[in-house]
Amino acid sequence: MTSPLPSLFVSHGAPTLVTDPVPTRDFLRALGQTMPRPEAILCVSAHWDTEAPRLGSGKRPHTIHDFYGFPDELYDMTYPAPGAPALAERAAKLLGGAQIPVSLDGGRGLDHGAWVPLRLMHPQADIPVVQLSIQSHLGPEHHLAMGRALAPLRGEGVLILASGNATHNLREAFSHELLASPVPYARDFADWLSARIESGKAEDTNALLDYLAKGPHGPKNHPTPDHYLPLLVALGAGAGAGTRLHDGYTFGVLSMAAYAWS
Ligand code: ZN
Repeated sequence: MTSPLPSLFVSHGAPTLVTDPVPTRDFLRALGQTMPRPEAILCVSAHWDTEAPRLGSGKRPHTIHDFYGFPDELYDMTYPAPGAPALAERAAKLLGGAQIPVSLDGGRGLDHGAWVPLRLMHPQADIPVVQLSIQSHLGPEHHLAMGRALAPLRGEGVLILASGNATHNLREAFSHELLASPVPYARDFADWLSARIESGKAEDTNALLDYLAKGPHGPKNHPTPDHYLPLLVALGAGAGAGTRLHDGYTFGVLSMAAYAWS
């Protein structure tokens, strides 16, 4: 019996993270090298937002270039990792057992919320990947419950990888330089987030669910919920206090923080 893999939350920033010479790129490369190698990866990405939960169940998920106006080289990149239909079915069963009905989607590919960090962590693309969608309209508790339902996978050689952004005011991002100093409103929220995660107390988990009201400048840091909600899946799949693995900013307003729960 091997020990369970951690659940992870990573911030993926702009698609150019894959080529930009920034500390988060180097962090993700090193993370893939230092973590135990998973047998498969279940990736929850901010960029697949559906009415009801869906799991990518294809054998060969294609690479989705779901971004516009970026350099040509990004559109030429692929991430040809195999799918894992059996893992998709296992995850569907776990979610169904928690009264969270989910459907399988054999035609779904990997969006950039998944393949940008995966390409840095596991460039050989030889670990099977299944994507799980978020449901923005169903709110924080639903995503925590999905994570809790999926927690047993960690003991089955599966890495639960949630990909979003610790802060995500995209509208303001591109008025700052790539490596600009963090603006105070983003740093305040990211510091608050880390403190709540690293405490692990029930009251702090409740605060994380109520992030728009409790987090400093919540609505300014997360004008939409899509890049925050994946974090709650990783939190739900983890146990107790999390650890901040990485701290950093791109474009002054995007906290690139990453967390692990063991
Ligand atoms: Zn994104």
